[in-house]
Amino acid sequence: MAVERTLSIIKPDGVRKKVIGEVIKRFESNNLKIVAAKLIHMSKEQAEGFYAVHKERPFFGEVIEFITSGPCMVMALEGEDAIKRNRALMGATNPAEAEAGTIRADFASDIQCNVVHGSDAPETAAFEIGHFFADNEIQNIIWD
Ligand code: ATP
Ligand code: MG
Repeated sequence: MAVERTLSIIKPDGVRKKVIGEVIKRFESNNLKIVAAKLIHMSKEQAEGFYAVHKERPFFGEVIEFITSGPCMVMALEGEDAIKRNRALMGATNPAEAEAGTIRADFASDIQCNVVHGSDAPETAAFEIGHFFADNEIQNIIWD
C-alpha cells in the first residue's frame, strides 16, 4: 500500500461544536500524520473553487454558505492508504447512515453539517491540498 496525502477539513459545525481535538485524536491514533494545518475562514471564491465539482448540484449554494459560515481547520494528512482510511474514519456523508464509531456518526447532525471533509481520490487530494497550502507549508515528517 502506498503512502498518500489527503486533505481533511474540520468544517464550521465541527469547530463550533469544539470537537477539533476529538477529530485530530482519531487521526493521530490511526497513524494519519498531520503534515500541514491552519484555521481559516474561507472566502466565497475559495469555497466555490474547492467545491467546483458540485457546481451543478442542487445543494451547491447551501454548501457554499455553510462552509463559509465560520472558521474551518484545514489539514493535510499523510499515511499508508490515507485517502481511504480517512474516509473510513469519517463515515458516510449522511450521519444517519454512518457506521457507529465514525466521526460523522458520533459528532455530525445532518447531511450538510457533517463535521469533516476528506478527499476521495489521489487526483482530488492533490488539487485540494494545493488549493489551501503552498509547498513550503507542508512538512516532510520523517519519524513513524
Ligand atoms: P465531503 O466531500 O465533504 O468529504 P462527501 O464526499 O462524503 O463529503 P459529497 O457528495 O462530496 O460528500 O458532498 C460534499 C458535501 O456537500 C457534503 O459533505 C455535505 O456537506 C454537502 N452535501 C452533500 N449532499 C447534500 C445534500 N443532499 N444536501 C445538502 N448538502 C449536501
Ligand atoms: Mg466529497
